Amino acid sequence: MNTDILEREVQYLKGVGPKRADAWAEAHGVRTVHDMLHFYPRRYLDRSTTTGVRDLREGDAATVMGTVQSGNVVPGKSNKRFELILEDAEGQRMKGVWFQGLWWIRNTFEVGERVALHGTVQKYGRWFSMTHPDFDRLSDEAAALDTGRIVGLYPGGQAMEAVGLTSRSIRRIIYRFFKEHGLKLGEPLPDWMTEQYGLMEGRVALRAIHFPKSQEERAQAVQRLKFEELFYIQLLLAITRHERQEIAGPTFDPPGSLTTQFATDVLPFELTEAQKRAVREIVADTQTGIQMNRLVQGDVGSGKTVVAVLAILQAYDSGYQSAFMAPTEILAEQHANSLAEYLAPLDLQPTLLTGSQSKTEREAALASVAEGATPVAVGTHALIQDNVAFDRLGLAVVDEQHRFGVMQRAEMFEKGDRPHMLLMTATPIPRSLAMTLYGDLDVSKIDEMPAGRKPVTTVMRREKQRDDVYAFIRERLQAGEQAYVVYPLVEESEKLDLKDAESGYATLQAQFPDFNVGLVHGRMASDEKDRTMRAFKAGELDILVSTTVIEVGVDVPGATIMLIEHAERFGLSQLHQLRGRVGRSDQQSYCILMAGYKQSAEAKQRLAAMTRTTDGFEISEEDLRIRGAGDFFGTRQSGMPELKLADITEDTDALETARNAATALITRDPELSDEAHAALRTYFDRYYADQSMGFLRVG
Ligand code: ADP
Ligand code: MG
Repeated sequence: MNTDILEREVQYLKGVGPKRADAWAEAHGVRTVHDMLHFYPRRYLDRSTTTGVRDLREGDAATVMGTVQSGNVVPGKSNKRFELILEDAEGQRMKGVWFQGLWWIRNTFEVGERVALHGTVQKYGRWFSMTHPDFDRLSDEAAALDTGRIVGLYPGGQAMEAVGLTSRSIRRIIYRFFKEHGLKLGEPLPDWMTEQYGLMEGRVALRAIHFPKSQEERAQAVQRLKFEELFYIQLLLAITRHERQEIAGPTFDPPGSLTTQFATDVLPFELTEAQKRAVREIVADTQTGIQMNRLVQGDVGSGKTVVAVLAILQAYDSGYQSAFMAPTEILAEQHANSLAEYLAPLDLQPTLLTGSQSKTEREAALASVAEGATPVAVGTHALIQDNVAFDRLGLAVVDEQHRFGVMQRAEMFEKGDRPHMLLMTATPIPRSLAMTLYGDLDVSKIDEMPAGRKPVTTVMRREKQRDDVYAFIRERLQAGEQAYVVYPLVEESEKLDLKDAESGYATLQAQFPDFNVGLVHGRMASDEKDRTMRAFKAGELDILVSTTVIEVGVDVPGATIMLIEHAERFGLSQLHQLRGRVGRSDQQSYCILMAGYKQSAEAKQRLAAMTRTTDGFEISEEDLRIRGAGDFFGTRQSGMPELKLADITEDTDALETARNAATALITRDPELSDEAHAALRTYFDRYYADQSMGFLRVG
């Protein structure tokens, strides 16, 4: 394909020039023809999508087209407003009302011009009206619409308008471009793909999204372009996945005597179906001779550790050691303890490796790892330090994998001969997102809780109920249970938060004089923090007050109460993680959300979701819905290519299709060296391959 035309700068196109080009680039990042062609209308107007005033219904979102009759600033009870009176083709009138920006809006409209208002219909007396409607001033559109055409309206803004880049002029520029150069636009996708997935030709789709002849044609164009957006991302993932599949890994034997003995004699419970499935998948992966990269995704408390233990035993039965890496010392110790319990009946012992061990402890640990005396080394980052040498490392388990970077995992690789990687995460991610975020990994999902768990009871309480809340906590403490009290951490004001947590700590000490109250916060030295956490774990403290430093994965089964102060300030997934600290035994646990009276709409939704469900996957779907994909990715996954049409949360089917297409392509032609894929390769390399690797961090 002729990529030169795509890379041409828009300023050299007819009707643009340097001033407009600057504004376009500044406002919307449009610099090249490629950018311009993918600068899509934000809305379309045609007769079928507009409503006559006569047919308006209160509460509906509608678009009304009409002629400006008058526009006046009128005094109101409390403040002034601007009222625009619009008359539609049938002579029916309605109002557009603005309370803000009166003087600017007053100078925007001219009497007699055609305008389209978009907004929610309200009714006051006999007048239909819209408050602060989105609007478009129609010039040549009006005539076009009268002849039944569909007209695209583009994103604008004051800077764009200042240089005359209105919907109208943008349409002209693009129209002219298609007339002169349209035929030079090539097709990046191979024929077999457009045929197999019933996709509109690329050039046709680009033209149709700007100038659709019908709503059907527009829908087809959107489908094709949406597919393409998702496809390139999936291709990136498919390539990574493919490259990984070339990497040889240790070949394990089928589960042997240790595994059997463990399953029949040691395991105090029956595995859930989801756990069994994960185990089967791991067993299958590790026998192929190809290095495994599997993510075990399961909500807090779903029992991921046992799955890892079974993999560790299979490795040891096959003559390989394992490494088990956790993000903090506390977690590492906790894992070492539970592994010790699991392995003792088999006469095996894990070895703990942390930064805070004494020199002699450490030397003994290093020796047992190096000699192969231990089946598994459990530790923090200390595991990947230079002086740690395994006799024969075959499996690396990484708990809370999102806390580690790729580099640390790469170093794990170097410790053995490309050990199998078993990554574990308790951050539930909606399926659609998982396909993208973890698209280069194989995923086992543990979507079932062990039998007999009591879901945590979650309630919202207000300040005036505080006494009742304390009375309830006192009752539980008297029964020998423990409580967490968590204060939010707002990044801008670490000091203030500390004050919050510290004064909360003082209050609780005063309120609960016969109980032991401890405090941990982010500014404490880590050994002091650890000491307090350990005391809580050991039951020496009854209440633990903290800012959000309590670690993901910390397991204190005796804790049954999670009191979250200023709950409206926490994100949904954070609230869910915090709630996961309780409900870790067969005792009934409680999560109490202390919420302020002032809550944003989103905060209300978050708190409502928390009281409605304890299902982590449902929570994460809800979180994604509330925050939108951009934000969900934004913080954790910058570098994700921009999606203009596709919505990762909604377009699950399209995502699946794109994924299948990418996999099919890479299976056929892994290097994209086939002549039929040359155009795709050029396009992909230029627009995706280089710049998008950032978001693959997770893999
Ligand atoms: P997580 O997935 O959060 O890491 P853990 O592996 O720590 O969860 O397991 C949580 C608790 O559930 C542990 O005490 C573990 O022994 C227990 N457990 C795991 N699987 C089962 C099961 N199938 N039936 C009953 N209890 C289980
Ligand atoms: Mg865990």
